[in-house]
Amino acid sequence: MGLKTKEEYIESLRALKPTAYMFGQRLTNIVDNPRLRAGIEATGATYELAHMPEYRDLMVTVSPLINEEVNRFTLPPSSIEDLVARVKINRKVANYVATCHQRCTGLDCLSTLAIVTYDIDQKYGTSYNKNFIEFLKYMQKNDLTANAGVTDVKGDRSLAPHEQPDKDMFLHVVEKRDDGIVVRGAKAHQTGSLSSHEIIVLPTRAMGKNDKDYAVSFAIPSDTEGLIHVVGRSTLDMREIDGCDIGNIYYSKYCPTLIFNDVFVPWNRVFMCGETEFASEMVIKFSSFHRQSHGGCKSGKIDCMIGTALTLMDYNGTSKAGHLKQKVIDMIHRAETLYGCCLASSYEGKKQPSGNYFIDTVLANASKIHEGKELAEAIRLMVDVCGGFVADLPSDRDFSNPEIGGLLKKYLKGVDGVPVENRIKMYRLAEKLALESADTISDIHGGGSPEAHRVTIFRETDIESKKKAAKRLAGIKD
Ligand SMILES: Cc1cc2nc3c(=O)[nH]c(=O)nc-3n(C[C@H](O)[C@H](O)[C@H](O)COP(=O)(O)OP(=O)(O)OC[C@H]3O[C@@H](n4cnc5c(N)ncnc54)[C@H](O)[C@@H]3O)c2cc1C
Repeated sequence: MGLKTKEEYIESLRALKPTAYMFGQRLTNIVDNPRLRAGIEATGATYELAHMPEYRDLMVTVSPLINEEVNRFTLPPSSIEDLVARVKINRKVANYVATCHQRCTGLDCLSTLAIVTYDIDQKYGTSYNKNFIEFLKYMQKNDLTANAGVTDVKGDRSLAPHEQPDKDMFLHVVEKRDDGIVVRGAKAHQTGSLSSHEIIVLPTRAMGKNDKDYAVSFAIPSDTEGLIHVVGRSTLDMREIDGCDIGNIYYSKYCPTLIFNDVFVPWNRVFMCGETEFASEMVIKFSSFHRQSHGGCKSGKIDCMIGTALTLMDYNGTSKAGHLKQKVIDMIHRAETLYGCCLASSYEGKKQPSGNYFIDTVLANASKIHEGKELAEAIRLMVDVCGGFVADLPSDRDFSNPEIGGLLKKYLKGVDGVPVENRIKMYRLAEKLALESADTISDIHGGGSPEAHRVTIFRETDIESKKKAAKRLAGIKD
């Protein structure tokens, strides 16, 4: 099959017939819905860049599994070079789309399953790794996109899955048949599920012995019977429906809630079923990979915010203001620290028993804590540099209104030589960068809540070696 073009990717989605709802209506045409199309275009950029001469070397490599060129978004890492490329492709694509491109979660699932299915098979003699490898070949040969179905709705957070009054609060197996399993539950915040060919499900947390039915992982096509996508709201979403005041005129992000209403999964698509002790390994591996992907991506988004701030300084006549330059420097160092931390987690990666490579968990989680706080600070700095029209710019419909349009354009003019229309467009972009909730809130909660990052750092850090170093210096012998 080979590498898909962006157009082929979009046409391949057209062939799928998922059950989807938005604003209370059943959707019949996903691809041409302007709200969803903006998300599909963002994922489409991962296909587009793979065909652009300047990005091809970064985005495309040969898969040893199928001996063909593949998009790196379908390649579980098998070397430090692959781990490094993960960060670089995410920064590059985010730099191009300035929002979430939505394809990293699928790669993070593939990277996790390549390691953990092997480990489960080693202990139990199961054939999950064989199932996974066949699935991976299919993903690579057809250049497909997958979504990560990880976050369960979770009901009462103080209770384990089996303790919930409603047992469906965590996705679980409700029936085992000769030909497969039937699952029920719901996954929340499913970034780009309708831009994906496949939904990969992993458990959302560590599981105890009584949670056997909840320790389940599998992949199914996004239009499988019983699967219902309900697209969530995001600030500014009506702008895309309306076709007005869009800001980032090409790309956007959406996150459905995904209901699994007794969905059948054939055995050859199951990657874990009941091996509770491996649920935590899956969660740690996936979330670390994903937190690192975030850092690569968000450093690319800050690049776009820096470009927006600098351009508006030019348009506003403030490009020589020293305090604004300092603020831009503060944005740059935040992007580069984030990028550096993600790269470091790749360079410190280690080979796993399956032969695949895994990043350094502590550095990956440190990068996510940095992102959660510092992206908000970068947005604050961008808004400070750009000015108040990030908040309340009149609509394009007012600018084109014959009664007031001329007056508005007169009063919104910045420096001479820059068309007022350009200044208006740049403010609209700044608004989108700062206020698109589906993207900016993922800086905090994407890949797990901030506390999850902190807990992982403490658990994975070599605490004893630090105490030993301190005791040696103080002359204490235990
Ligand atoms: C924009 C966006 C995109 C996302 N994309 C995806 C995706 O593609 N796929 C996917 O699977 N997930 C996705 N997520 C989900 C993300 O991983 C979760 O939002 C995150 O794990 C937090 O879970 P929650 O939203 O259920 O909040 P909660 O778990 O309810 O957390 C809220 C707060 O309560 C705390 N808390 C929760 N439980 C406990 C407890 N037992 N004890 C103490 N404190 C607790 C948390 O630390 C947090 O501070 C996305 C999220 C967002 C916002």
